[in-house]
This record gives sequence, C-alpha cells and structure tokens, in this order.
Amino acid sequence: MLDLWYTEEWTDNCRFSLKVKEQIHSEQSEFQKIDFFKSEEFGTFFTLDGLMMVNEKDEFVYHDMITHVALATNPNIKRVLVIGGGDGGTVREVTRYPHIEKIDMVEIDERVVRLSQKYLPITASKLEDPRVTLYFEDGLKFVEESAEGSYDLILVDSTDPISVGEGLFTTGFYKNCYRVLSDEGILINQHESPYFAKYAAEMKKAHNKIKNLFPVAKVYQFHQPTYPSGHWLFGFASKKFDPIADHQREAWEKFGLKTRYYNSDIHTGAFALPTFVREMLEDV
Ligand code: SAM
Repeated sequence: MLDLWYTEEWTDNCRFSLKVKEQIHSEQSEFQKIDFFKSEEFGTFFTLDGLMMVNEKDEFVYHDMITHVALATNPNIKRVLVIGGGDGGTVREVTRYPHIEKIDMVEIDERVVRLSQKYLPITASKLEDPRVTLYFEDGLKFVEESAEGSYDLILVDSTDPISVGEGLFTTGFYKNCYRVLSDEGILINQHESPYFAKYAAEMKKAHNKIKNLFPVAKVYQFHQPTYPSGHWLFGFASKKFDPIADHQREAWEKFGLKTRYYNSDIHTGAFALPTFVREMLEDV
C-alpha cells in the first residue's frame, strides 16, 4: 500500500503535509495550475500553483472573517465588490444579509469557479443568487474602470502576491479601491502571515501602502490551520469607520446569523495583536 500525501513548501525549511485519498482533478488553466483532492482530515480541497486555497473543513474561518467584521462595523453596506474568491465562499457569506442589494464578483479565472461549483458545491452554493453578477476579468482592471463611490465594501479574496494576484497588492490597486469606495466604504484584504519572514515582508508592504491612503488602517488576525503557520491576517481599511470604536455589536446580532467562527467577542479580540505583530506594524 502506498500512501498519497499533498505537501506544500511553506518556507525553504518548513513543509505542510496532508494525507490525501485521491486527486480528483488537475489542469493548467490559462492563468494557473488547478488541482483538486479529497482528504480524510480536511475533506475536498483545491490548490492553485501548488498552494492551498480552500478546503471543506476550515473554509468557514476565512469566509467568516473576511465578511462579517466589515458588516458588523457598518451594517448599512448595500453594494459589495468581491475580487478573486472564485470558490464562492465569500459571496456565500455576503448573501446571508438580506438587505445587501448588489454583489459583484470579479474572478480572473473562470475555471476556478466552474470547478468549485462541481467539487465544492456548498462553498459555491450562492453564486447564482440574483444579486450576484460574475465578471471573469482582472480585478486590477475592473477597479480601474469602476465609477467613483460605486461600492460600500470591497473584499479582496485573492491569491498571494505572486503571479496573477500580484497586481492586487500594488499602490495603484489600493488607490483605485479608495476612489471606488463610497465615503462610508470599507476595504478588507489579504495581509498574509506575520510568522514566517517571507510572508511577513508582504504583510508589511501591503499595510504600509494602505495606511498611506486610508485614514483608518488596521490589521486583524485569525487561525487558519492550512495556511502557512496557521496564523493569518486581514487588513481593515476605511475612510470613516474604526472597527472597534464603531463596532455595531447589537445591530449585527440582530441579523441573527449563525456563524461558526465569527462572533462579537472575536470581532474585538481579533484586533488585539501579539506584541511581535504590533512591533512589525509600528515599523512600517
Ligand atoms: N482564500 C484563498 C487564499 O487566501 O489562499 C484565496 C481564494 S482563491 C479562490 C483566490 C482567487 O483569486 C483565485 O481563484 C484567483 O484566480 C483569483 N485571482 C488572483 N488574482 C486575481 C486578479 N488579478 N483578479 C481577479 N481574481 C484574481
């Protein structure tokens, strides 16, 4: 009997391995290598260019944290732009708010969407909600061409700052996000991991660019077992709202959403950063 393992190189000296039952799909799309696997521990998962993206077991953490923090800071958000997010998990969480009127998702690679609909039907379950419009194009170009003030929330659910995702970590992209957001707008984006030097360097670069543009720029953390180090960060940026001072705990709780990771205490706690992360951020 041969064991089959998926192994990802987190750094030159550290790897993450997951026993797999079978590989269910593999292709090279126009943009990236897409692989889907089945595993006992994390269920079905997929990788892009050899990096874990989404799996059935811990996707709720990421999708809760990318979505609900912003909605609990400004519960009046009505127009949402999701950039990347082809698995549909972020859109699924956004659709849980009945008052949200418009959800545009811009994913560069249609194959990620179609394969997620086939192999991760729960994650992709709301892509056909009537409020959702899918655009298959580069998010960088999409925000360049979007009208000023046209969204209340931008969720950047992207790959790492390599390959097709690179443009989504540039000052030009963040400037366009600022322009496209309404005066009450919020931007949430990937800030990588503070733990390993190569990811921390990206986090510091992203934070530096955003804090030079937005009056409010904070970082919050969550636990994502299958991402490098398991300690992952999002950036919260806004023209107006502070996620702690303006936290609308009661208004959010009135939505009555059942969430498995996010809750009002996690909202507050996620912004309490370890000293080494605070020091990294003071440094930028
Ligand atoms: N949660 C995952 C993570 O942090 O690893 C990311 C999810 S994955 C579905 C991210 C998606 O972003 C990919 O499907 C990829 O095709 C898409 N993407 C990367 N660069 C993009 C770009 N410039 N414009 C639009 N989508 C992009």
